[in-house]
Amino acid sequence: MSTDRTGTILVTGAAGFIGSHTCVDLLSAGYRVVGVDNFLNSSPRVLERVRKVATGEFEFVRLDVRDRDALAEVFRRWPIDAVVHFAARKAVGESVEMPLEYYDANVNATLGLVGVMAEHDVRRLVFSSSCAIYGAVDRVPITEDTPARPTNPYSRTKWMCEQILADVCAQDQGWHITSLRYFNPIGAHPSGLLGEDPHGVPNNVMPFIAQVAVGRRDELAVFGDDYPTPDGTGVRDYIHVVDLAEGHRLALDHLGDQAGHRVINLGTGRGTSVLELLAAFSAACGRVLPHRVVPRRPGDVAALVADATLAREALGWTARSGVAQMCRDAWEFQRLNPAGYDDEKGV
Ligand code: UDP
Repeated sequence: MSTDRTGTILVTGAAGFIGSHTCVDLLSAGYRVVGVDNFLNSSPRVLERVRKVATGEFEFVRLDVRDRDALAEVFRRWPIDAVVHFAARKAVGESVEMPLEYYDANVNATLGLVGVMAEHDVRRLVFSSSCAIYGAVDRVPITEDTPARPTNPYSRTKWMCEQILADVCAQDQGWHITSLRYFNPIGAHPSGLLGEDPHGVPNNVMPFIAQVAVGRRDELAVFGDDYPTPDGTGVRDYIHVVDLAEGHRLALDHLGDQAGHRVINLGTGRGTSVLELLAAFSAACGRVLPHRVVPRRPGDVAALVADATLAREALGWTARSGVAQMCRDAWEFQRLNPAGYDDEKGV
């Protein structure tokens, strides 16, 4: 990776799973990074880990992106060139339980951020969107022009943000914004220092499997084996978080190519079922991990797989790692940090 990039990038949600890996990637590429986070769903310990993994200028301010005064202070203090906006709530089930929180944390925060950016004449943004906005699709792989059909408050917040950003770009040609629609990010940094550490019982399959492997959970509940997929379990496009981080850097590098708002999928183009993922993790940790099939989870769809052609053509990006590598890295993080970041015995 070349280390000749210059510029100061504001990363919101810098202590999160994808945010922390992206900070490492940007720092390693030569960017100065100013991170902000409110630690609602992350640990301050991530910051020292980022500094261990990557050299370079990494500044950090604890703040909530909805606090416009605090955010404006960051723009006054550093010459921000562009923003990567991760900070958001991300659990689908929780979004149904507390929709107002989700619209506030995701939509309102983005509105405030864009307003503060405009006030400080910063019009370059990479926005963290999601394949969740496609909803139940008729066919895979999914191209970016597939109509959005978000099915829950979480995915509606991401879709609303994309529409807001498109409207802002339509009004003022000075903006350059890329919304990245990620598929299913898993894996961990190969150092074993950074990984996924959700608070409470994991909603997502990968951290759940990793916690079974380390003995924190008894077995994986497989949500349905009667989908129209090869083995009946849900198929997803899992993408290594390090590849995803690189996709953000390339999106930043290419922001200048084209004014306006563009949308790009980040996925591998390969589908993996829940049982295949469990088998890959079992191989990585050297133990057959137990599972039990339970009824489908409401709202789940059979298969979501990206068409990643545009990312290759527009950004020169393709995913490097396969599911076996993703599982090996996730297991290494979980093995070294059995209780997550706040484990005193952790590395
Ligand atoms: N899944 C599962 N057990 C779990 C969590 C998830 O079988 O404890 C399945 C889920 O039904 C889906 C896949 O794993 O087919 C990925 O789910 P996840 O929540 O990780 O991501 P999503 O695609 O829903 O964003």
